[in-house]
Amino acid sequence: MTCLFCQIAKKEIKSEVVAEDERMIAFKDINPVAPVHILIVPKKHIPSAAALERSDLPLVAEMIWFAKELAEKLGIAQSGYKLIFNSGKDAGQMVDHLHLHLIGGKRLERWPV
Ligand code: AMP
Repeated sequence: MTCLFCQIAKKEIKSEVVAEDERMIAFKDINPVAPVHILIVPKKHIPSAAALERSDLPLVAEMIWFAKELAEKLGIAQSGYKLIFNSGKDAGQMVDHLHLHLIGGKRLERWPV
C-alpha cells in the first residue's frame, strides 16, 4: 500500500519541510487556506484519529507540542491559530495518514472551516 504522507516522510516525494525529528515531520500544505498552513505528520503510519490506539497517546501529544512550537517559530503564537484533525468521510479527510493542520496568519472567522 502506498501512502502519500509515508512517501513524503521518507523523502520519496518532495515537500517543503519546516521541521522534523525522528518521530515527526511538518511540511507546508500544498493547497494552503491561510498564510500559515502546515501539516504535522507522525512518521508512523496511522490512518486517522479514528484508528488511534491508547498506546499512541504520547505521539498525539507530541504532534500538538510540535504545532505549539512551530506556531511560536512562525510568529503566530500570539495572534492565534487553529489545530484541526479531519477524520473520515464527513470531515473530508483526503489523506489516510494521521495529520494535524496548523492554520493561521490571518483572521479565521468561519467555524467550522
Ligand atoms: P485532509 O483533508 O485533512 O486529509 O487534508 C489533507 C491535506 O493534505 C490537504 O489540505 C491537502 O492540500 C494536503 N496535501 C495533499 N497532497 C499534498 C502534498 N503532496 N504536499 C503537501 N500537502 C498535501
